[in-house]
Amino acid sequence: MVKVITIAAVLGMIGTASAGPISPIVVLDPGHGGSNSGARGAGLVEKQLTLTLATQVADRLRARGITVELTRTDDRTLTLRQRVAHANRLPADLFISIHANASPTRSQRGFETFVLTPRGVDVDGRALRSDTPTPRPGVPADIALVLDDVERGTSQWKAADLAARMQRALRDRRGTAGDRGVRQDAHHVLLGATMPAVLVEVGFLDHPVEGKSLAEPTTQKRLADAIAEAIEDQLSD
Ligand SMILES: [Zn+2]
Repeated sequence: MVKVITIAAVLGMIGTASAGPISPIVVLDPGHGGSNSGARGAGLVEKQLTLTLATQVADRLRARGITVELTRTDDRTLTLRQRVAHANRLPADLFISIHANASPTRSQRGFETFVLTPRGVDVDGRALRSDTPTPRPGVPADIALVLDDVERGTSQWKAADLAARMQRALRDRRGTAGDRGVRQDAHHVLLGATMPAVLVEVGFLDHPVEGKSLAEPTTQKRLADAIAEAIEDQLSD
């Protein structure tokens, strides 16, 4: 027997089964920290730049009434997995990890955004079935599995959407030449984020020109503006 579930029925169930908080929660993750300094450039260390940017982005979003949590507000060591777990516990509506780059030849420059694949979705975006569905009071187990698939797929689409907005907002302020595009990294597949999650690399700290630029407060303000704008756009959609 084939059980037919209409899209409307499925969407209706998502609405009731996962009714989230009224005010969205954004988790900003300043990359690195503590003993893990990250990339280095002339006078600039990644863990410091990411905290500066995340703090500025948080200020902008909070001024617009958006609830923001940072995975760290000081210089401490955390794994990326611990940061994602923090976001899952809330649960957050969006997760944005902020990073800066370095290259062995110090010749690379530009910005890029990685889509972090949600738990249970492979790199091609196909939902991977798990035999243990998310607990959904009052929803039969077979239907819960279908709902899980739909939500994972939706999360993946939203993350790709957010990544595209991030690149667009950065391109507007940093120029088309530095646009390295949206990427998906197999390395991040198993992080386990349950909400749309991206990792933005704002630029290369060790590039002789770009590195200097990243150290300037005016550039940092533009980067924070770009990241905040992309998040606001995503939430208001
Ligand atoms: Zn990094």
